[in-house]
Amino acid sequence: MLQPTPSTPPGASPASALFPTAASAGTPALAMRGVTKRYGEVEALRGIDLEVHAGEVVAILGPNGAGKSTAIGILLGLRAPTGGSVQVLGGHPDHPAVRARTGAMLQQSGVAGTLTVAELIDLFRGYYPAPRPRADLLAAADLADLAGRRIRTLSGGQLQRLYFALALAGDPELVFLDEPTTGMDLESRRRFWEVIGGLADRGTTILFATHLLEEADALASRIVVIDRGRVVGDGTPAQIKATAGGATIRIRADGLDPATRADLPAWSGVIRVAPAGHRLEIVARDPADILRRLFATPSRIEELSIEEHALETAVLDLVAQEPRA
Ligand code: ADP
Ligand code: MG
Repeated sequence: MLQPTPSTPPGASPASALFPTAASAGTPALAMRGVTKRYGEVEALRGIDLEVHAGEVVAILGPNGAGKSTAIGILLGLRAPTGGSVQVLGGHPDHPAVRARTGAMLQQSGVAGTLTVAELIDLFRGYYPAPRPRADLLAAADLADLAGRRIRTLSGGQLQRLYFALALAGDPELVFLDEPTTGMDLESRRRFWEVIGGLADRGTTILFATHLLEEADALASRIVVIDRGRVVGDGTPAQIKATAGGATIRIRADGLDPATRADLPAWSGVIRVAPAGHRLEIVARDPADILRRLFATPSRIEELSIEEHALETAVLDLVAQEPRA
């Protein structure tokens, strides 16, 4: 494995020169192998394997306490794993050359409230060898109108956008965002998603944590579902939905011929059949396929409705499939 050259002072040469293979095809932007993390009695991570490639936008989706922030903390070199190995941009997360090429927006941030937005952005730009221009950062975070405002006067959503601008100050190729839209109402959340989408369009690799299924669906090209320190699902939003049951079909129960009613639970692609009042609920991966087959039986198909499962249902199903410890 390629290691950073310790004898090269940070900033003495372009960061990329320290990692000649990092940009070449095949080297993941980040890799976690068998990563565990224990806080005393708590096993926060129980063997995480994750590889993310340049240009991917990956959502780490999971309920509170799943281990999302712990995983991001380890990738940033803020916490040491108990076991396993971690590589970021081909090197150790803590190496200055790696840190110079990454940006982060953490769950808890605090900044000096008396500075203006523009002053704080310039302060952060000063830490990096090749910072993004200030005007560029203000535009990327939708903050141009607020450049002269004191930070203490910003709203929660405006503050989150400022943290986002600070995460981009070093013109990073890899960005970590931990629950970036926490505390925002739906309107500012949607606006912020557009802002993050702009970063993804530039080709920046993004790994973000969220417990909001809608957010993962809206932003990510890939969703990694974690629950109690383990990866329980990994795929495109469409694949995640497909593995967990696609839709609920409802039909009038007394229209179904008895033989079909008896066989239905065993049909391939049928996940569950249950009565619901005078109707029957059929949960199925591919509702169109099931309907085609139902129409070919002697049944009367009446009061038909089809409800596509939201991502939320899909993920809860996935998490429920994991046996509880
Ligand atoms: P998430 O970000 O998915 O909500 P976290 O990574 O913050 O989850 O936490 C995972 C588990 O580790 C939780 O049970 C949490 O209580 C525990 N935990 C997190 N940080 C610490 C810590 N510093 N000390 C002890 N336990 C912690
Ligand atoms: Mg968290």
